[in-house]
Amino acid sequence: MISALLPNYARADLAFERGEGAWLWTTDGRRFLDFGSGIATASLGHGHPHLAKAIAEQAAKLMHVSNLYRIPGAERLAQRLVDRTFADSVFFCNSGAEANEGMIKMMRREMFDSGKPERFRFITFEGAFHGRTLATLAATGNPAYLKGFGPVVDGFDQVPFNNMNAVRDKVGTETCGIIVEPVQGEGGVRPGDIQFLRDLRAVCDEYGLILGMDEVQTGMGRTGKLFAHEWAGIVPDVMSVAKGIGGGFPLGAVLAKEQFAKALVPGTHGTTYGGNPLACAAGNAVLDIVTGPGFLDAVVAKGKHLRAGTEQMVHDFPTLFENARGLGLLQGIKCVVPVGEVQAACTAEGLMAITAGENTLRLAPPLVVTEAEIDLSLEMLRKAATKVAAGKAAA
Ligand SMILES: *Cc1c(COP(=O)(O)O)cnc(C)c1O
Repeated sequence: MISALLPNYARADLAFERGEGAWLWTTDGRRFLDFGSGIATASLGHGHPHLAKAIAEQAAKLMHVSNLYRIPGAERLAQRLVDRTFADSVFFCNSGAEANEGMIKMMRREMFDSGKPERFRFITFEGAFHGRTLATLAATGNPAYLKGFGPVVDGFDQVPFNNMNAVRDKVGTETCGIIVEPVQGEGGVRPGDIQFLRDLRAVCDEYGLILGMDEVQTGMGRTGKLFAHEWAGIVPDVMSVAKGIGGGFPLGAVLAKEQFAKALVPGTHGTTYGGNPLACAAGNAVLDIVTGPGFLDAVVAKGKHLRAGTEQMVHDFPTLFENARGLGLLQGIKCVVPVGEVQAACTAEGLMAITAGENTLRLAPPLVVTEAEIDLSLEMLRKAATKVAAGKAAA
C-alpha cells in the first residue's frame, strides 16, 4: 500500500528534529555535519538566532496579506536587492521553478511588447536544471524528467555547456534569449567558464537577445559573491533566485532591468503567497547577515579551504575520484566509483553530503560553516573514502 506521504523521493532513513549552525540531530539523538544545507538552501545554517527571531516576530505580528495591498517588508527587500545588483525591480514568488517561470514569461513578453512576438525560443544547456514545472522541465531538457508528462513545452533548444560555437549555431530568427546557470549545480557542480559567460553576454548584445541568469542555487552568497555572475564581470538582463534567499523559508525572486521588468504589467503575472510579510522577514534577515561586513570574503576563504581539501582528496584517492570543481562553498568531486557508495560512506561517518549529475559528490555547507568544521568534514570524507577504497581492493 502506498505511504501516506507520497513516495516520490528516495529518502534516506534519517529524521532530524533540531539543528544548530552546520549541525543536525536526529530524533534518536545522533549528530551529523550538514554539508548539503537542504540543497544549498539553509545558507545561514540551522537555528540561526537572527533569522529565527525575525520569523517569530513577524509571524506573531502578521504572516500573510495578499498582493492586493502594499507589503512594506517586500518593498524593503526589493529595494535592498536593487541597491546591490544590476536589477531595477524585483518580483517575489515561492520557489526556484516559479522564479524561472516568471523569468521566462518576462523574457517572452518583453520581446512580444517590442514587436517581435516570433522571438519566443530559448537556448538552454545540456546538464542544466531549472525546475520541475512543465516549462522549466522543457528548459532543463533532461529526457528522464520529461518522460510521460505529455508534449514538451515548445521553445527550448539545448546545446552543450561551455561551447560558444554551439550557442552561435543555435541563434535564429525565433530566439528570445539564453538561460544559463553560472555554475550548473544539479548537473554536477560544473562552473561556466568565465570567458563563456562573457561571450554569452556578447552574443546577446550582438543579436538583441535577452540574457537570463538562473542563480537559484548559486545566488545569495553561495559562491562568495552575492551573485555568481559577478565573478565574470558581466550583468544579465533578468535573473532568477530562490534556495538561499530565504535561508530555508520558501522564497524566490525574479530580478530584472527596467526594460524587462516593465513587461509584467498588472494582470500579466502573479502568485498568491509570493513576497508575503513572513517570507520577506526571512529574506531581509538573510540579507542582513550575508551582506554584513566580511561575510562574503569569509565565504571565499572558506570555499578555497574546502577546495584545497577536495583537491587533496582527488590526489590521494585516484581510484575513487576524478576531479574537484566548483566555486566558493559549492564544491563537487566527480567520482569514478558510484557516487552513492561514497555518499553512504560519508553518512556512516556523520557527514551529510549530497550528489549531483555526472556521478558527482556535492558539498554545499551552510555559509556560516567554520574552517574547523570544514577540516572535520574533510577528515570524515577521508575516512569514508578509505573504507570505500578498502572495499574495492577486497572485491
Ligand atoms: C533547485 C533549482 C531550481 C528549482 O528550484 P525549486 O525551488 O526546487 O523549484 C531551479 N534552478 C536551479 C539552478 C536550481 O538549483
